[in-house]
Amino acid sequence: MERKNCWNEYGKKQLKELDEYSKAYMDFMNQSKTERECVDTIVNMVEDDGFQDIAKLIRDKKKVKAGDKVYATWMNKCMILFRIGQESIEKGMNILASHIDSPRLDVKPNPLYEDNGIAYLDTHYYGGIKKYQWVTIPLAIHGVVMKKDGTTVEICIGEDEDDPVVFISDLLPHIAQEQMTKTADVLFKGEALDVVFGNMPLKDEEKEPVKANVLKLLKDYYEMEEEDFLSAELEIVPAGKSREAGIDRSMIMAYGQDDKVCAYAALHALMTEETPKRTSVVILADKEEIGSEGATGMTSKFYENMVCEVMNLMGEYSELAFRRGMAASNLFSADVSSAYDPMFADAFEKKNVAYLGKGLVFNKVTGARGKSGANDANAEYIGKIRALMDEQKVNYQMAEMGRVDLGGSGTVSYILAEYAMNVIDCGTAVMNMHAPFEVTSKADVYETMRAYKAFLEGME
Ligand code: MN
Ligand code: MN
Repeated sequence: MERKNCWNEYGKKQLKELDEYSKAYMDFMNQSKTERECVDTIVNMVEDDGFQDIAKLIRDKKKVKAGDKVYATWMNKCMILFRIGQESIEKGMNILASHIDSPRLDVKPNPLYEDNGIAYLDTHYYGGIKKYQWVTIPLAIHGVVMKKDGTTVEICIGEDEDDPVVFISDLLPHIAQEQMTKTADVLFKGEALDVVFGNMPLKDEEKEPVKANVLKLLKDYYEMEEEDFLSAELEIVPAGKSREAGIDRSMIMAYGQDDKVCAYAALHALMTEETPKRTSVVILADKEEIGSEGATGMTSKFYENMVCEVMNLMGEYSELAFRRGMAASNLFSADVSSAYDPMFADAFEKKNVAYLGKGLVFNKVTGARGKSGANDANAEYIGKIRALMDEQKVNYQMAEMGRVDLGGSGTVSYILAEYAMNVIDCGTAVMNMHAPFEVTSKADVYETMRAYKAFLEGME
């Protein structure tokens, strides 16, 4: 049952391919820190590659056929992409579903205030974070401001070398005796995560001069009024690029690898495959980190609407054909899993945990406390997957997230399982997941892409 270390398996050619793929992935990560940026980057990539916008095809009353590549976006925050296969969709699709939102701090609608000469932006964290990890590190502001006149201002502060960054402060250790007795869950409360935004007063301004100066700068740079925060979506994320990690450069450290490591692998697999037998689908959902609800989350009807639209463009839509197609589909719920960490050995069960460098991780079950809320992939499906992965020489491991009773997690798998399709969770192992900077093994990043490609091309 021992799984092989991928690095021992690679020859020169594969190492070169791995290297090129990791570089492209890291580059993608640098351009795609938020779900909006991710959608932008991907639309540019796939448009260049000949993918056509479904909305435009509908408008122009066009048809699609085997070999065509189409995509749709929704609210600039989520996407679905198709490579039309030789068979009708009624016979089933191979679907890779991942998410492109990541834990972060969102700026509140009424965020700006001044306290004793410091201007702050008030935040509300998004997704499951250990709050103490987000203080005293350089942070960047990414997002959009929608103005009443209908124009959009795109904001990105803190990523260029010359840009200023923002930060959350912590108390110096010298006078932290009381603070240090607190447990980690209360060390920083949500309301303590306000971002320091400025410190310079506007000359001759008596009331809140630092805030006034910040507002003047926002006006100068972005033509933005304080009220425009009401219709803004500004996300505070760790500043800085993705980096190679370890003196052997074997790992990647980057913000938001959950789940963009799987999203990018899915996209790459889709873009590089030949016309498949079954239609290939890649879903890049939003809102996974807060429960998959909302118009752009996996529970939104957007995704199934687009399947119906594509069937219609193929001239084969009916409610029954759609339902048959969904039930006959195979899904890889493409989301990251936890990597074994020797520093926290107690949290894992060594026989059933994923290890860095041992390939794509399959989770038969997710869920928490007695598998509650889990999708449970059936043994028949797993048997077929094992055969396919072995045939394509993909390195993989079968694991659970952590020790039983310690908690757990869910992904989008249960939502798509409602259509009665074959579903399994699988993704890249991540060390310190949900931390500002997460770590993956380049070997696993590469195997994830190889596995997804094998799935799209070969799953029957
Ligand atoms: Mn995830
Ligand atoms: Mn997550």
